Order: sequence, then C-alpha cells, then structure tokens
Amino acid sequence: MLVKILKISGIFFAIFFVLLIVFYIFAPTVIKNRFASEDAKAIGKEKNKHYLRESALPKNGRILYVTAHPDDLEFMSGGTLPLLLERGNKVFLVILTNGGKQRYMPGFYSKAIIKTRREDQIEIAKVEGLSKVFFGGNKDGYLKCNSKNLQAVEKIAYNYGITDIFTFEPGKRKGYYDTDHDAAGQVGTAVAKSKENRVQGLYYFRASDPNLVVNITKTFQKKMDIMFMFTEFRYKHRMMMAMHEAWASIDGSRVDVKYGEAFFYTALKKEAGSGLNNYPGWLIGGKSMPDEKNKTVQAPYEILE
Ligand SMILES: [Zn+2]
Repeated sequence: MLVKILKISGIFFAIFFVLLIVFYIFAPTVIKNRFASEDAKAIGKEKNKHYLRESALPKNGRILYVTAHPDDLEFMSGGTLPLLLERGNKVFLVILTNGGKQRYMPGFYSKAIIKTRREDQIEIAKVEGLSKVFFGGNKDGYLKCNSKNLQAVEKIAYNYGITDIFTFEPGKRKGYYDTDHDAAGQVGTAVAKSKENRVQGLYYFRASDPNLVVNITKTFQKKMDIMFMFTEFRYKHRMMMAMHEAWASIDGSRVDVKYGEAFFYTALKKEAGSGLNNYPGWLIGGKSMPDEKNKTVQAPYEILE
C-alpha cells in the first residue's frame, strides 16, 4: 500500500517537475507575445506616423509621477527618468496605494509586502535621484479617484510647484489593464487640469495612441538594473527582460530606434488669473520655491494620511 502511494506521488512529482521546466523555458516567449501582440497590431496600422521626440520632454521643470504602486514609475518610464534628470528637472513621485497586493494576498502576508516594497522604493528612489516620494495609504487593488486622493495630490502639485505630471492613461488598456492604474490616471489627469496649480504638461505612459517616443536605447540596461533592485523581481530576470524588451522594442520601432518608451503628451493651457498667479512668494520662472526655502524640514519621503 505504502509503496503504491509513494509510486503514484513520485509520478505526480515528476510530471509537476517537467511542467515546471517547460514553463520556465517558454514563459518569456509567452509573455512577449501576450504583451506585445496588441501593440504590434496597432503600430502596423499607423506606419509613417510622425512622433514628437525627446525635445518635447520637460526642461528645468518640477515633475510629479502620479502612480498606484511601488515599481510603476520604473515599469512605465524607467528609461525616460534618467533623461528627465539630465534635462535639469526635479522629479517627485506619489504612490497612491500601500502596495500590499490586498486583492490577492491574506492580511498577514500583505503587511510584510507593504514593508518590503516601501523600503525597496525608498532605497531605489535614492539611487534614481528622485527629490521625494509620497506614499498614500489606499488598499492595493481598491484605489479610487476620490476627493481624499485628489486633494492629497493637488496639495503636492501646489506645494512643490509641479510643472508636469506623468501618469497612466485613464480607461481600459488592452494587455495590462488594472483598475488601480486607471484610478491613478484619473487623479493625475484631474490634478494636471486643475486651475489651482501650474502644471502645464501631461504625459500618459504607454498610451493607446501615443504621440511621443523617447529613445531609451542607452538607458534600457539601467532601467532593468534598477528594476531588479525590487525584492519581488530578484528571481524573475528572464521574464522581466522578455517583457520589457518586447515593450521597448515595439515602441522603439515606431521611430526606428532599438528601445523606446512611448507617451501621449498634452500641453495644458492655463490662463493668467487662474491659480498660476496665486503662489505665495514665487511665480513661474521665479527662483524661490517652497521646499528649497525650507531645506531643513525636507525628508526623502513622506507617508500621506
Ligand atoms: Zn502597478
């Protein structure tokens, strides 16, 4: 009897092991096809389209990334980030959820995930050269574009004199739709369009119909190296590389470069008399900015309540 059980479980184990190897071998290809096929189809339809290039990125500005999770910035824009810093911009990041994957994980496990991802992001932000990271406390998987989140981001945009917002394109996006990304995009869009701040450029990550392509051939490796600093991705090198290579080469092919990151850019027109003129003590192009005046109270990150 015991021998029989051992034999059967041995067979099951062998089958499981073989399937695992097969999965490991083919996963990158499957991932590549899943993530790239929709985009490839879309590009086929728009051959010869004219795209804005790197010169359409902000210069000497104050950029805010409005995202949902730790790693969103790195995933969507990790190749463009070094170029933004090179162009003299200061970069701020708001992550609206706690990153705990509550949609999938039991409570005790989520707590550990929140801690790890937050610590990872703080460390990574330093390496990247971000000016400050803001962590929101929304449950991961349940982000909403509500007044609490709108006010929190509006306050950051105002207090830090944000000139440009990078965020997700609201709405359903085939291939990697996520309700949190959609909500973060709604918050980012509403704040960018608000008359109470000086935001004048709105950039959507990997938009369904992009109008701007950044050449990230030189920064692609850096993007991946930083991605692998997240504990979560430490043992997923092959799959992550496959996915990002697929995305970056498809977007690069739009403008005949090896790797690209595509965005949809909107220039926002804000009239005189709106919030633009109401900044305490400083104006557009002025030299004195609130956080530079109060250097001593600056923390590298802040937990939003
Ligand atoms: Zn995300």
